[in-house]
Amino acid sequence: MKVPMLDLVTEHAPYRAELQSAFDRVLDSGRFVLGPEVEAFEKEIGVWIGTPHSIGVSNGSDALLLALQAVGVGPGDEVICPTYTFFATAGAVARLGGVPVFVDSAECCYNLRADQVVAKIGSKTKAIIVVHLFGQCADMDPILAAAEKHGIPVIEDAAQALGAKDKGRQAGTMGTLGTFSFFPTKNLGALGEGGLVTTSDAALAEKIRMLRVHGSKKKYFHEMIGGNFRLHELQAAFLRVKLKHLDFALDKRRANSMRLMTELQDKWSAIMPLDSCVCQGEAPSTEHKPGTILLPFSCHSGQGEHTWNQFVIRVTGKGNRDAIREKLATEGIQTEVYYPRAMHEQECFARIVTNYPVAQILSSESLALPMAGINFALLSGL
Ligand SMILES: *Cc1c(COP(=O)(O)O)cnc(C)c1O
Repeated sequence: MKVPMLDLVTEHAPYRAELQSAFDRVLDSGRFVLGPEVEAFEKEIGVWIGTPHSIGVSNGSDALLLALQAVGVGPGDEVICPTYTFFATAGAVARLGGVPVFVDSAECCYNLRADQVVAKIGSKTKAIIVVHLFGQCADMDPILAAAEKHGIPVIEDAAQALGAKDKGRQAGTMGTLGTFSFFPTKNLGALGEGGLVTTSDAALAEKIRMLRVHGSKKKYFHEMIGGNFRLHELQAAFLRVKLKHLDFALDKRRANSMRLMTELQDKWSAIMPLDSCVCQGEAPSTEHKPGTILLPFSCHSGQGEHTWNQFVIRVTGKGNRDAIREKLATEGIQTEVYYPRAMHEQECFARIVTNYPVAQILSSESLALPMAGINFALLSGL
């Protein structure tokens, strides 16, 4: 591959010495799990995000599980979440015996439809998970207002959206709890696994700290049933290094995606999918002729508030996405499909028969392009 989706070796090269000294520091400390590096990282990232409580955990999937457990989700409880997302969102609900209640996506930003969230709130609704997909915040205000009215907690799955904002508010600070992932492909990637839970609620923070270590405050005395959701010292030390360079890395993502946007308009005649945001479901969907390239759309959150964890275009019409994907692969350009199958169609959730037309379209038309190092000359040959 001439252009891989992600080149972490190149990305880490400028920080090599800093990462190696972080490694040495941990090696010399003899502390490897939940120690001073984790504590320092929790403080530093808490300041960066602007949240009073941040708890470092094993990964982003467990962060979701802990957040749901902390607000009391258990067997039979319904949790509203998007169907077009990474599996972990709905998986965390099911791991606790809960029932994911899916909503469709908006054609603008691919995020969940706020009006459908509000419409699906019922007597069994125990929580709402909002996913800030691909690095752009979902439309929070109508969801937060409805959740407050019904006394339902909102969990922001911000795994892909560290640093993203909705009307100036940071992802992970708007809901009851925020969850993040430090998987290497995310905005802030560890050299392994890691995750974070954020909240402004001191009692919930305390509960998550306990759940992280088998539900105990005092070693070997268990007040609740948690698990091993601890963050490693090495990962925290690496993350502290990369956090120092996060603003620069996000600026670079934004610059690369803006360049890609212009190039695609120029060379592939790419256009915006619609004229305005449809997160709240007011506008009818627009028809495009098959083979049209649709650019990622920044709606209620301005361009500057999108963090571009992924640059996802749409190729309209049956089979056209896969054809372009193959053509790019032969030219050495790697692409990825996030996600080829929505959650309501997964084998493990197969009982769900509702139709989610937009999620269906997105799973057959969306294509994530590499953001760095594209040889734009290659793009002209479409
Ligand atoms: C990556 C991701 C997760 C899970 O994070 P891991 O650290 O890989 O467990 C959860 N939700 C979304 C939307 C993600 O993209």
